[in-house]
Amino acid sequence: MPAAADVLKPDFAARRKHFIFNDEHEQLRDSIHAFVVKELAPHAEEWEETTFPDWVFRRMGELGFLGLSMPEQYGGQGGDYFCNLVLGEEMGHSKSGGLAMGIAVHTDMATPPILAFGTEEQKQRYLVPSIKGEKISSLGITEPDAGSDVAGIKTRAVRDGDEWVINGSKTYITNGHRSDFIVLVTKTDVDAGYDGFTLFLVDMDLPGVIREKKLEKLGMHSSDTALLAFQDVRVPADAVLGEIGKGFYHIMWELQGERLIGAAGSVAGAQRVFDQTLRYATERTAFGRPIGKFQVIRHKFAEMATKIESARQMVYTTAWRFHNGEYPVREISMAKLHASRIAVEVADECIQIHGGAGYMKEYGVERAWRDLRLNRIGAGTDEIMLDVIGRSYGL
Ligand SMILES: Cc1cc2nc3c(=O)[nH]c(=O)nc-3n(C[C@H](O)[C@H](O)[C@H](O)COP(=O)(O)OP(=O)(O)OC[C@H]3O[C@@H](n4cnc5c(N)ncnc54)[C@H](O)[C@@H]3O)c2cc1C
Repeated sequence: MPAAADVLKPDFAARRKHFIFNDEHEQLRDSIHAFVVKELAPHAEEWEETTFPDWVFRRMGELGFLGLSMPEQYGGQGGDYFCNLVLGEEMGHSKSGGLAMGIAVHTDMATPPILAFGTEEQKQRYLVPSIKGEKISSLGITEPDAGSDVAGIKTRAVRDGDEWVINGSKTYITNGHRSDFIVLVTKTDVDAGYDGFTLFLVDMDLPGVIREKKLEKLGMHSSDTALLAFQDVRVPADAVLGEIGKGFYHIMWELQGERLIGAAGSVAGAQRVFDQTLRYATERTAFGRPIGKFQVIRHKFAEMATKIESARQMVYTTAWRFHNGEYPVREISMAKLHASRIAVEVADECIQIHGGAGYMKEYGVERAWRDLRLNRIGAGTDEIMLDVIGRSYGL
């Protein structure tokens, strides 16, 4: 308790947002932030046109940012899960949602299953160079005829002696054009229900792997998004990742980490556009005063800040449980749903506060809205999150 003589003042600028972070996390945050602002953000406009270059992976590998929570024996930093959250948050300062997504697919979607389910040989061959940024990964779940309904995929892998032969197609694959390998979800037994799926590590330069044209998108322009075809692609028996027949469960596990990092990215994206808009509202004047001094605008900021804070606390608390070995699927789904929704609401309101400027590319607020809009679809749509949450109550 403070002494009666002490005057307590509200600590609006408190730096640490949650007990999950310690001083090391904050130092890591500072170093990632400095790198992102200095080496990535200046290229944001250019990369919207060209997609971001592959050197970003190598550079981030050199800096140790691609394996923050990976074991040191594979070249990682040996940190905890919260380090990945820090990376996911700080990448938002690149002002390039597509770049943040391309990196997150590599660090938090395609490579964790190799660590969790891979053989030692697979870890040496794929994980070690991925952490160095020498190999780029992608993750292939979605198909032209099956997205939300993962169990409805048609890509088949059939055993042929010592090999497997893969046929099918995948769509909307992030990093699909640049990746050296893909973690591919296939069906290996059509009669086995959820026990009929198997993951493969497929080198993208194998005969029969066809990278179709780059797909044009609403946002995330700096990322590459591919339609891929697999025509009689032969892979060796040791290309199986994890257990034969357990691929569905493996990928459901992967999706939990993907959703949580996506949620963290949504909160960070919302915070960044909020901060930018706050500056604008203090500089822009109308009717003789800064627009932020109108009560209507002030309340918009209050609403947005409350939404961001509620989503942030959901993400952090759920991440804490995930870090402690729990499998909080319901709360991960809630965090993903809530964070991606409020991020779009915040970005939309920020466009409004900017007025006409919000509609102009120059300010980047419209791009934040377009980029953040993906999060209500990717890694499981809002409707699928609601269904997971609803079903978790036995309904
Ligand atoms: C830019 C981008 C990048 C992506 N990157 C990747 C990637 O790297 N790898 C990858 O595998 N995938 C990727 N995806 C795919 C993404 O995960 C899917 O688009 C998403 O899961 C939705 O699947 P769908 O597009 O087939 O929609 P559909 O499943 O066809 O859904 C259409 C609509 O129906 C609704 N719906 C479907 N089923 C139900 C239900 N049971 N109850 C209520 N509503 C339902 C959906 O919510 C949605 O509104 C990416 C997508 C985009 C746009």
